Amino acid sequence: MIKQAIDAIRARAIESTLVALGTILPVWGALARDYLAGYVSELRPTTIVYVVLLSILLSAYSIAAFFWWRPNLVFSQKDGGCWLDKKTGIRYCNSCKSNKKLSPLQRKQKYWNCTVVGCYQSYPIQTNESQP
Ligand SMILES: [Zn+2]
Repeated sequence: MIKQAIDAIRARAIESTLVALGTILPVWGALARDYLAGYVSELRPTTIVYVVLLSILLSAYSIAAFFWWRPNLVFSQKDGGCWLDKKTGIRYCNSCKSNKKLSPLQRKQKYWNCTVVGCYQSYPIQTNESQP
């Protein structure tokens, strides 16, 4: 059970590091508030305003980056039952996705093919003429 938790943290190393920093730094700041207040009181008010604005900017950009890079997947029955990223148009293998892997599909003639060893799933491309 502990090994699974460690593996889960390793798989999400960047996210775990950011969450740890986002927790540790504010807690450290709160604990050292009297120590830090001595330095902050010597700063000009415009400097403090710039630091607050920079913090807001970085927070907003981080949230935007999260939504920007997150795939927007929809199940595409039209492409034989694969997953389609609405932002990029890239199709992903349904078999691999059920194993928690995102495998982009390659188009070959009338099929979308998965190139993952051991899967090789193919998804027929339905043309407009064959649809009722
Ligand atoms: Zn696959």
